[in-house]
Amino acid sequence: MLNIGIIDADLIGAKKHRFPNLASMKISAYNKNLGNNVKLITSYDEDFNQYDDIYLSKVFTATEVPQSIIDLPNIHCGGTGFFYDKAPPLKDEIEHCFPDYHLYDDWISTLVERERERERERERKVSLSQFKWYTDYSIGFTTRGCFRKCPFCVNQKYDHVFKHSSLCEFYDSSRKKICLLDDNILGFKDWKAVFDELNSTGKKFQYRQGMDERLLTKEKCQVLFSSNYDGDYTFAFDNIADYDLIHRKLEMIREYSQKQCRFYVLVAFDRDGKYDDEFWKNDIFDCMKRCELLLKYKCIPYVMRFEKFKESPYVSLYNTIASWSNQPSLVKKCSLVDFGVLSEKCGNHARARSVKEFYEKFPAFEKYAYMKYGDIALF
Ligand code: SF4
Repeated sequence: MLNIGIIDADLIGAKKHRFPNLASMKISAYNKNLGNNVKLITSYDEDFNQYDDIYLSKVFTATEVPQSIIDLPNIHCGGTGFFYDKAPPLKDEIEHCFPDYHLYDDWISTLVERERERERERERKVSLSQFKWYTDYSIGFTTRGCFRKCPFCVNQKYDHVFKHSSLCEFYDSSRKKICLLDDNILGFKDWKAVFDELNSTGKKFQYRQGMDERLLTKEKCQVLFSSNYDGDYTFAFDNIADYDLIHRKLEMIREYSQKQCRFYVLVAFDRDGKYDDEFWKNDIFDCMKRCELLLKYKCIPYVMRFEKFKESPYVSLYNTIASWSNQPSLVKKCSLVDFGVLSEKCGNHARARSVKEFYEKFPAFEKYAYMKYGDIALF
């Protein structure tokens, strides 16, 4: 029997991401099935000599791992956080293992107990919702791959969408909900069979990575919006060049559903790689033009800042726009200018300043600065 250590580096990293690492759960299950001892390592201060093998996985490139850990003789590192689109896949027998949904149990118990002690003094209840992805969801991929090859995306390896696993490979009927990590489910030729299978469970489900709105058809809308969907429908509007297409699809969506939809809005990514003054100005305008279209259809934008935004002369405005748009309760109530005024009352003057400076320099921006969810007339 071997002693196996598992490190979910994104959990330990500075940002402390709170989403289970699927590869780690599969490696854990595989090793437990072999009769090995498996432990989730939650700190880099352990005695690593006690393990025969350690599997370290990370999804995010920004998550830092000490070099001394990477250099351990018994460590195996994997995941997009290390190798981006060249990340080697898990061995087939691991990839298709039923995930170990109990890998994180001890870590959750420890955190809950620690918080309970703190909250007892304040006579408050500990919120367990922060652990919902670990406790409430079956997680997996029904399909993999995407044909679009967007230059900012990690999915570059395949040129089509293909079946990855049947639901029974990761569906735990004792869990309340299902979370799918597929890259582009609407690009899969047998998408309907997947939705039928998901709906047959009677459980709520969601596609966490966002869906490709450009591929919506009337039939897809009909199935998607009558499904037992969990939370907001999430799509992406990454490129202003898709404006007319997205506009047509928004009209189609609203023929079928008035439910809340969210759209990722990528900003600060220059497809020409110039990142000059003209780009930064146009990018702010493009972002707000996309937000305007979404708000018109009562959809919520989620502005995703490509890391280059930190080099923009408008970095403060990017931050202001993201702080406004990425909180549905705010973006539904106030314009960007209102948000600046609210922030000033709380002592943050930078937000209002960033908006004002930009529209004083580019007066055409004023209409975006004052636009408001629900107040914008449809075309
Ligand atoms: S459509 Fe989505 S999954 Fe496909 S390459 Fe573009 S961003 Fe990635």
